[in-house]
Amino acid sequence: MTNSEQTYTRPVATAPGDPIEVRGLHKSFGKNEVLTGIDLTVTNGEVVAVIGPSGSGKSTLLRCLNRLEEVTRGEVLILGENIATAKGKNLDRVRQRVGMVFQHFNLFPHMTALENIALAPLELRMLSKADARKRALELLTRVGLADKADARPASLSGGQKQRVAIARALAMSPEIMLFDEATSALDPEMVGEVLQVIRDLAASGMTMVLVTHEMGFAREVADRVVFMADGKVVETAMPAEIFDAPKEARTQDFLSKVL
Ligand code: ADP
Ligand code: MG
Repeated sequence: MTNSEQTYTRPVATAPGDPIEVRGLHKSFGKNEVLTGIDLTVTNGEVVAVIGPSGSGKSTLLRCLNRLEEVTRGEVLILGENIATAKGKNLDRVRQRVGMVFQHFNLFPHMTALENIALAPLELRMLSKADARKRALELLTRVGLADKADARPASLSGGQKQRVAIARALAMSPEIMLFDEATSALDPEMVGEVLQVIRDLAASGMTMVLVTHEMGFAREVADRVVFMADGKVVETAMPAEIFDAPKEARTQDFLSKVL
């Protein structure tokens, strides 16, 4: 283990229970209730794929997990903290333990790949400049981009940008990673390299929730698949079960269109 990793070792969560426990989550935008009572538990090291039609509330659910969206009603326990009501330092602390990767990479264009990755640990004074640089280089190596440390986003391909975005999310040593259609904006030939990074992360034991349209990937990498429609969890099952023998008509209908 390197020094920078030692710097980053966190105490194991002492809070009881699972890393993600969602109970009775409701979310409305004005009069439009888009999550209508979600219950979801994700256990330590589990990889959960969330699938479902466009507009079913998948992104909103994910965004409620680190409170990019305010929760209208219900409990969202993340590593033991109810993020729906957490305030100030408690909210910041739990957010730092959850990494998120979006469809669009949102890298800072004026910064190099390395600077993008080192930014948060430096701003939060979690690492010295030298250690943040070292850590960023380790992460770039991990996503196969050690030679792109000094490249700016404009000179990177979509797949490379997304891998930098994943490395950036990992820079805070999160215990949970959330992916919202991380490959949907990519040209087809770049999907594989990003899925490989996500696959490696899953194999490393990271607790993850992935919203994805890649059904083959969900089947391969997920421990459990959650099918959502109309703001509800319609069906949850092991990948083989949900893809080969979905129980609910709504799931059957969706899968018949996408598989
Ligand atoms: P999905 O990710 O499954 O496609 P979303 O969570 O993005 O679905 O959206 C679910 C519903 O919530 C949609 O009807 C969408 O228009 C609505 N919605 C999402 N974000 C907002 C927002 N910020 N303001 C108003 N409505 C929103
Ligand atoms: Mg979405």
